Amino acid sequence: MYDIIIIGAGTAGLSAAVYGVRAGKQVLLLEEKVYGGQIISAAEVENYPGIRRISGYEFAENLYQQAKDLGAELKYERAVEIQEEEGKKVVLTNRSRYEGRAVILATGARNRRLGLEREEELTGAGVSYCATCDGVFYRGKDTAVAGGGNTALEDALFLSGYCRNVYLIHRRNEFRGEEKLVRALREKENVSMVLESQVICLNGKEHLESVTVKNRRTEATEEIPVAGLFIAVGQEPDNQAFAEIVSLDAYGYVKAGEDCRTNRAGIFTAGDCRTKEVRQLATAAADGAVAALAACAYIG
Ligand code: NAP
Repeated sequence: MYDIIIIGAGTAGLSAAVYGVRAGKQVLLLEEKVYGGQIISAAEVENYPGIRRISGYEFAENLYQQAKDLGAELKYERAVEIQEEEGKKVVLTNRSRYEGRAVILATGARNRRLGLEREEELTGAGVSYCATCDGVFYRGKDTAVAGGGNTALEDALFLSGYCRNVYLIHRRNEFRGEEKLVRALREKENVSMVLESQVICLNGKEHLESVTVKNRRTEATEEIPVAGLFIAVGQEPDNQAFAEIVSLDAYGYVKAGEDCRTNRAGIFTAGDCRTKEVRQLATAAADGAVAALAACAYIG
């Protein structure tokens, strides 16, 4: 029996593990894919207090090693259900069953899809959700980025260093992301902004060859030949497996306040998967600490 079972090994889950093991608890982390979470695909992190500049990958690696060296255990399994039995929680995974005294949900969020007809089929064949992972395959080619937040702006800047032309396609004529990034992009000769527009069709046989874009104001459509489309339209949570044991909001986030307590005693939540205003690396780490200490207090 573990003291704390943490579902998700991103920044929130790994931070919770650090605090849990340092409080003397036996901690199990369950992770479906790779540890590190979303930050792995950030080329550079410049806004984590106390670290002037670090790559997302190095940040994640350091945090994982820290949790592991302190004694946290990690298993690569997908948690599919949480059950309650007398005085304990049971986490069922795709492979096994684990018992714990408290659970922390730190499932993060996954990349939102555009919802286009051939989006899944062409993922890995021209469609990508990670410019820093896949951008290098498009050296010298034309690419597009969909989105208007910081991720889309950073992706477009990153790609402008590799690609012949980069089209930044955003549904409004103002960006959600930082002005500093917008200014940097406007200075790039190979970046074109396609504003008030949405990608409506992905074209190509086995690989993406072009995108059809529709102007939302004029309703005019245009075909832009690109070998790659990087979709950066935000994230959405993936908590449906836990909808019966904890309350979720209308968007699927686990309902909890800054104390990281769910409506179910002994189940806590941390990071991007919970209802919150600010989803940042620093707030994910902070949540991890709050949730772990709350779990320790619950266990007693
Ligand atoms: P985001 O800020 O939520 O932006 C998502 C963008 O996608 C918005 O511009 C949105 O348009 C657009 N969008 C959403 N759904 C769409 C759809 N169905 N079709 C077309 N466009 C759609 O997401 P993000 O850029 O991934 O950033 C997430 C968080 O991480 C933010 O807080 C961000 O500041 C932070 N972040 C920080 C850094 C950094 O500090 N270095 C880097 C990356 C991300 P609208 O604007 O019209 O809503």
